[in-house]
Amino acid sequence: SHPDFQAAIPIMKKIEAAGYEAYFVGGSVRDALLGLPIHDVDIASSAYPEEIKQIFPRTVDTGIQHGTVMVLHHGVGYEVTTFRTESGYQDFRRPDHVTFVRSLKEDLKRRDFTVNALAVRHDGTVIDMFDGLSDLDHKVLRAVGDPHARFHEDALRMMRAVRFQSQLGFAIEPATESAIATNAKLLAKISVERTATEFTKLLMGQDRQAGLTTFIDTGLYAYAPQLKGQVAALRQLAGLSAPQFKDAAIGWTLLVHLTGLNAEKLLRAWKQANDLIRLTTSAAQLLKQLPGADAWALYQAGKAAAAVAFTAEQALNSDFDLAQAEAAYAALPIHAKAELAIDGKTLMASGFKPGPQLGQTLNLLERAVVFGQLPNDQAALLAAAQK
Ligand code: ATP
Ligand code: MG
Repeated sequence: SHPDFQAAIPIMKKIEAAGYEAYFVGGSVRDALLGLPIHDVDIASSAYPEEIKQIFPRTVDTGIQHGTVMVLHHGVGYEVTTFRTESGYQDFRRPDHVTFVRSLKEDLKRRDFTVNALAVRHDGTVIDMFDGLSDLDHKVLRAVGDPHARFHEDALRMMRAVRFQSQLGFAIEPATESAIATNAKLLAKISVERTATEFTKLLMGQDRQAGLTTFIDTGLYAYAPQLKGQVAALRQLAGLSAPQFKDAAIGWTLLVHLTGLNAEKLLRAWKQANDLIRLTTSAAQLLKQLPGADAWALYQAGKAAAAVAFTAEQALNSDFDLAQAEAAYAALPIHAKAELAIDGKTLMASGFKPGPQLGQTLNLLERAVVFGQLPNDQAALLAAAQK
């Protein structure tokens, strides 16, 4: 009954009218049944990609080799993916080829967890071939079929398990968890980017504590970049009872702080984006000096990193006065060099020679203004510089 599903119903009906099956599948079904907000609506169909393209006048080949065609309807794109099985798993990674099939059951069987293997028809009928509804009800993540075989086929599923545990606040069914422990070393075969996507979602989930605990207890952590040997720090991170992190940088900053690893080295190993690396590096730098950081440390961190560091400090130390720290940051006389009432040009116009000395003078003025030792006033700064 969700509006995003409603909007896709004409597409489903059209596929059925052409003689094929079509169902809502995947995360949006799971999340809608849980009453959570939904993201992308995925449609699975018995129609082959070429058949979908014959049914709809406007389509885009977004992933046709995997069986996905985007159908455009009232300006919105819907991904329709042909039922498929995956075969030829090599090196415990994604399969190298997919086979299109006409059977819904075959398609649901290859999915990772029972709660991700539900299908819903356009009239709302739920197709529940692997007891996913009962697992949803009991908040349990259970591998579809033999967990050992499923993690052996695709080791990323183990990271998905701990990610969903954190994101959904579900428990992992014991045989599924024990198969993760047995296969943990296969995580080393998975690309860092894909592992990192799941790990970041784990860090940002509602039950980070449980997800991290399983990540540690199953031994997965030892096959993730830079974390082998960091079990004590990871346990500390798992033990923090802070609320859900709203920004990935908070989790990374705490991880840097607790492990003592170099932020840039850690985040490069995890192939994270430069913006996140910069933000985490600055935040971790400031965090070392909290709660007693001086004005210069706050100023150098900048607004975004200061906010991350404050939240991280609060997670470590519940006595930390966040409001006071925010007020101290806001009260800085300037927040960036561009706000300084004097610059190199002005100094040179008053007879200063260009060169390293000029830069040093400017830095001293900047520090003095940040510390409130000089007013941010051009005449006063010029007079101070001339002394
Ligand atoms: P999210 O809300 O994060 O998108 P999701 O469950 O929709 O979660 P997707 O990666 O979008 O996750 O995958 C869509 C569906 O495809 C899953 O619900 C699951 O049925 C199936 N799936 C995805 N990745 C795997 C995998 N590695 N092994 C088996 N099935 C998978
Ligand atoms: Mg999804």
